[in-house]
Amino acid sequence: MSEHATPFLPFALPDIGEEEIAEVVDALRSGWVTTGPKTRQFEADFAQYLGSSEADPLQAISVNSATAGLHLALEAIGIQPGDEVITTPYTFTASAEVIRYLGAHPVFVDIDPATFNIDPEKIEAAITPRTRAIIPVHFAGLACDMTRILQLARQHGLKVVEDAAHTLPSRHRGALIGTLQSDATVFSFYATKTITTGEGGMVVMRDKALAQRCRTMRLHGINRDAFDRYVSKTPAWYYEVVAPGFKYNLTDIASALGIQQLKKADRFQQRRQQMAERYNAALADLPLILPPKATIAGDSHSWHLYVLQVRPEAGINRDQLIQAMADRGIGCSVHFIPLHLQPYWRDTYALKPEDFPHALQVYQGAFSLPLYTRMSDADVERVIAALRDILRSAA
Ligand SMILES: *Cc1c(COP(=O)(O)O)cnc(C)c1O
Repeated sequence: MSEHATPFLPFALPDIGEEEIAEVVDALRSGWVTTGPKTRQFEADFAQYLGSSEADPLQAISVNSATAGLHLALEAIGIQPGDEVITTPYTFTASAEVIRYLGAHPVFVDIDPATFNIDPEKIEAAITPRTRAIIPVHFAGLACDMTRILQLARQHGLKVVEDAAHTLPSRHRGALIGTLQSDATVFSFYATKTITTGEGGMVVMRDKALAQRCRTMRLHGINRDAFDRYVSKTPAWYYEVVAPGFKYNLTDIASALGIQQLKKADRFQQRRQQMAERYNAALADLPLILPPKATIAGDSHSWHLYVLQVRPEAGINRDQLIQAMADRGIGCSVHFIPLHLQPYWRDTYALKPEDFPHALQVYQGAFSLPLYTRMSDADVERVIAALRDILRSAA
């Protein structure tokens, strides 16, 4: 690095403003730092954001990660040891590990290379008498063809839990993800996601009994939370343990962040979309495959991730390209290393790389450019210039 090197542009940064800081300070000064009033407000705000109404009420259940939320949702729908749950190999390991938490088995179905999402046309062939559920993952924030997936699930009596870690906000046929007819939808507020609480997640569902099960299981299997014990008329010391639950509740410190981040979710999405459009226009003539776009009418993209593929004729491979970007001070990443290549999944289910040829092929060329709201237009142009320069030298 030279003395006057431009600062490193990280792959991702959270966008935390003074509003979030003030709300967190308010939580800290209140004396209530675990699950309490801020968490209740965040849940209410989240349900309202998705359009919950008296006619169509949505239950929003906060949790301390999307992984926890996926686990709770699968537990609530009754996944048992030996059951099979269909999901994609082109995802983060959390989507599948939660299936193993319950002693059930993931059955991977390859992606459609045009969307990077699970290929609905291949799901049917993977259904066996043991199949209980499907976990579609809306990769990068582009919605799966949920119309088709929900139709298949209904035909075969399967539950659907959407992994919506990337999708706040995305739409399918005009409807926000989180409001479709699946059994549960799970959002992530991890540090790099579209809105963040540091760590956190939200389970959204309509069924009140399922929601109650999630609420109980997120806090030790106790049927009332600490705040309820604090404010309700029943003696504060009294509670009942009805199941061996988990410790998955979200703190008020995190929820304070979430309350303010949620207010910015639409503005953040618009900015990411603008940056994605600039990348699309500026990179179209290069030996790259641009990211999948929404093609179904009424679908929209959260642009959580901007994932390109290097074409074989580029004269440089993906690993070299990421290194060359790093040498120019720009952080890139890879989403994702397919699960069937990971030692645990590969060895447990005797999976071979060519079992999921589309996931394998996309992965071999895939790299993600930085795309987050803290980036300036100049940062976006810097990324474009670096990539153009690297590919020009490689040609
Ligand atoms: C980040 C992520 C998760 C897990 O989210 P956490 O909130 O970190 O538990 C699950 N699925 C996908 C696809 C993700 O990218």
